[in-house]
Amino acid sequence: MSQTLDGVGVTPLSGLGTVRWYRPGDHPDPEDVDAADPETERERFDEARATAREELEAERERTAERVGEEEAAVFDAHLQFLDDPQITDGVEDAIDDGAAAEAGVARSFDAAIEQFEGMEGMMAERADDMRDIRDRLLRILSGGERIDLAELPEGTVLLAERLTPSDTAQLDPDACAGFATMTGGRTSHAAIFARSLGIPAVVGVGDALAEIEDGADVAVDAEHDAVIVDPDEETRERVSASREVDVRADRVETADGREVEVAANLGTSAELEGADAQGADGVGLYRTEFLFLDRESPPDEEEQVETYAEALDAFPDGRVVVRTLDVGGDKPVPYLDLPEEENPFLGNRGIRRSLGDDGDLFETQLRALLRAAAEGAGTLSVMFPLVAAVEELDAALERIDEIASDLDDEGVDYAVPELGVMVETPAAALMADEFAARVDFLSIGTNDLAQYVMAAARENDAVAHLHDPRHPPVLRAIDRAVEAAHDNDAWIGMCGEMAGNPELTELLVGLGLDELSMSAVTIPDVKAQIEETDTADAREVADRALAASTKEDVRRIITQES
Ligand code: PEP
Ligand code: MG
Repeated sequence: MSQTLDGVGVTPLSGLGTVRWYRPGDHPDPEDVDAADPETERERFDEARATAREELEAERERTAERVGEEEAAVFDAHLQFLDDPQITDGVEDAIDDGAAAEAGVARSFDAAIEQFEGMEGMMAERADDMRDIRDRLLRILSGGERIDLAELPEGTVLLAERLTPSDTAQLDPDACAGFATMTGGRTSHAAIFARSLGIPAVVGVGDALAEIEDGADVAVDAEHDAVIVDPDEETRERVSASREVDVRADRVETADGREVEVAANLGTSAELEGADAQGADGVGLYRTEFLFLDRESPPDEEEQVETYAEALDAFPDGRVVVRTLDVGGDKPVPYLDLPEEENPFLGNRGIRRSLGDDGDLFETQLRALLRAAAEGAGTLSVMFPLVAAVEELDAALERIDEIASDLDDEGVDYAVPELGVMVETPAAALMADEFAARVDFLSIGTNDLAQYVMAAARENDAVAHLHDPRHPPVLRAIDRAVEAAHDNDAWIGMCGEMAGNPELTELLVGLGLDELSMSAVTIPDVKAQIEETDTADAREVADRALAASTKEDVRRIITQES
């Protein structure tokens, strides 16, 4: 009998395979380990650290090759913690007091973890890094088996309570048929890496996952948010078939000839190749904050020019929409020393920081963008995140004028790119005409727009039913923005998760979006849907959805149930 467990699919992919549990935290209770004399325990600790260092360095190298240099920088932080005197002194003090190396490690790391956990969301991620190193050391000390995630046998479905970013980055997409975890959400780093690597993944399955045994036959059906144990023949066929994608490298148009641009969302240069391979017309959202995360200092102007020009060269006939730095809220940038906030999602984030505390970073980024616009092959577009007030946009546009004039004075080559604003707040949707009159394009970020229109945090499972762009007020906000853009001769795209759901493509075409941007893996399906869509029928679907009162009515209209 097959059994289905629900979770959150983070890639629109599915895979079939044999279960292998990954339990890096499985080791004897550190406090139960008998201590030898302090000198021996110190030696054991030093040896364990040396082994951990070797492992981390090898993993760092592999991650740099497979995912990218920026992601590999996660390991630098881990290596640093390994030698952090605050932690190592704590371990040695405990050993001198008669503890075994295991107990010393557990006590010292747990104290540091507790400190990080006391901080707001983004610093709490550091606690994850600490847990990662603690468990690594405890495993080494207990002589426990190390599952080499890079060398899993082909057809492995990996199950774990949670996977760290470093775990996920080790996975070989050709060998790993998928993974499922008990905890985690859509926007976790593990989920983002899974999307970059194209691995089927379902997270947040809960305790029920623990019931699945090593060696079981499992389907990870991320398209349908499910993990299926002992799948029947029908499920097997469906899951296997979904891997065969028909990539459309050319631009697509609707059945009646309206072109809709389909672009990729990405955060690192390492994802450019995958985006191209899935048939992206360009990049619709380059989340530049990923260039700033997990490192010790921000990238300088030269590094950024190179990164943006690389993206432009990857799409010589396309457009690359780069979003300026969008940090604050829940995104960890340790060297920025972001203060703790009562309501981070309503706080100092996005353009607010760029026009305030992060003015220097904003200036460097804009200089790099203007220079890259003159250097790279494709067309650069730049947009600003989380704009709520027209004054903010005016101030950002003024910064661009000032920077252009500085570059002029310095005799540096530059070009002013196409400029745009993200519609992520109800304020931006309501004032979309004012915004569109000032810029070349708008791009709707439905992840934040749904959160703010519905007053439902995007990462809070308890209100996930409200954080859904199919709610009529979200659709009406989108409609208003599209009309305002077109009335003002601006083009309008969508780069929130909603854009990558092929079930919603007809509705979005009907609403009049000119561009849809999404995780690369969903591009083939959305392109196929566009080709099947008739604009007049799509407009009718959109009109009916806009007139609906409930999300359920909208769902029925979209799925054409009566
Ligand atoms: C959005 O809010 O929809 C968006 C695309 O931005 P992010 O998910 O990076 O906040
Ligand atoms: Mg956003």
